[in-house]
Amino acid sequence: MLEMKHIKKSFNGQEVLRDISLTVEKGEVLSIIGPSGSGKSTLLRCATGLETPDSGEIRYTGTFGLVFQNFNLFPHYSVIKNVTDAPIKVQKRRKDEVYQEARALLAKMGLSDKENAYPCQLSGGQQQRVSIARALAMNPDILFFDEPTSALDPELTGEILKVIKDLAAEHMTMVIVTHEMSFARNVSDHILFMDQGYVELEGTAEEVFASSNSRIRGFLGKFE
Ligand code: ATP
Ligand code: MG
Repeated sequence: MLEMKHIKKSFNGQEVLRDISLTVEKGEVLSIIGPSGSGKSTLLRCATGLETPDSGEIRYTGTFGLVFQNFNLFPHYSVIKNVTDAPIKVQKRRKDEVYQEARALLAKMGLSDKENAYPCQLSGGQQQRVSIARALAMNPDILFFDEPTSALDPELTGEILKVIKDLAAEHMTMVIVTHEMSFARNVSDHILFMDQGYVELEGTAEEVFASSNSRIRGFLGKFE
């Protein structure tokens, strides 16, 4: 579904990604964890074409959706317009069909009564659920999340993590950058631990959390 091979990226002579390779199979959840500045966002930005790697190969099938830390909704669009805009304008799909699907997605996100609201009238958790609905409206084959809960209060974090867990149960293919360790442990098929632009460790959730690697132990220790 997604394959990245030998990805390298530098900014102003500083190597941020130093030969990263990863594979995500259909229906799999990969979480990317690691200290601040280790290159997690840059890796997602390379995967989704927001950034061009200096070298390496990226291959994937289908379309993708992207959910950011700060929601990135269009402030001057209503909720329903945020969700329907790209399917209608970019994918050129039928308006009535897109609206019907968008309403079903908003219902699934518990936002049926908010379709005419504007982003500034919503809580952070509600805004993030709109941005997940917006990503899903494109019928993506793979969803990328970059720290989807780090701008949210703890109680709102839980509601977003639940939405992502539900998507995992429906076998949505996802790549998730997160600092929520128990969530990563529960939801992920694989975890990739990045440090200083390298993949320090990659394995199943059990393998990574049980690893005796000193860097991962030091990193996980900060969350205990
Ligand atoms: P965090 O957990 O804080 O979000 P991260 O692992 O996502 O960190 P990145 O945002 O990928 O880290 O940044 C990795 C390094 O690349 C940092 O040193 C950052 O300053 C640098 N960097 C990222 N984007 C750019 C850019 N557009 N121009 C210059 N340097 C950049
Ligand atoms: Mg980041």
